[in-house]
Amino acid sequence: MNVELEELYQEVILDHSRRPRNFGELPNATVVVHGDNPACGDEIHLAVRFGDDGSLDDIKFTGHGCAISQASASMMTMKLKGKSRDETMSILRTFHDLVTGDDDMPPEARKLGDLQLMEGVRKFPQRVKCAMLPWRAVEQALQQTSGEATISTEVEDQVM
Ligand code: ZN
Repeated sequence: MNVELEELYQEVILDHSRRPRNFGELPNATVVVHGDNPACGDEIHLAVRFGDDGSLDDIKFTGHGCAISQASASMMTMKLKGKSRDETMSILRTFHDLVTGDDDMPPEARKLGDLQLMEGVRKFPQRVKCAMLPWRAVEQALQQTSGEATISTEVEDQVM
């Protein structure tokens, strides 16, 4: 990452972590997922209201944690609000490739907008967990039709 991009990354992450968008309770949420990243102490409570066609009519979050996890959640909710289920899955996969891949940025990452800046976490496996926490929560939300669920970034590691 060049210096200019590095500065932009810092700026965007700090801005979103200080003033997270879509932060708060969501009345009439269809699904609530509680996500936990014990490695860093990040916590997220992601609430989604699905429309009749399964699209993400509204999405909000509460919680606390490091700047990366909060900024990732803030930017994610901005990106996914109003998206269809298929679009959401596609964005989710692209973001996952962006932060975990070791190749060049995938070409479809362009559609992620500011989220592309999160590419910087790839070099730091612990930070990847922070960045992925809200995305794992939304992935779980898509698998539910209603109710609450809990996810943890450590569960996958235990299985492996
Ligand atoms: Zn974190």
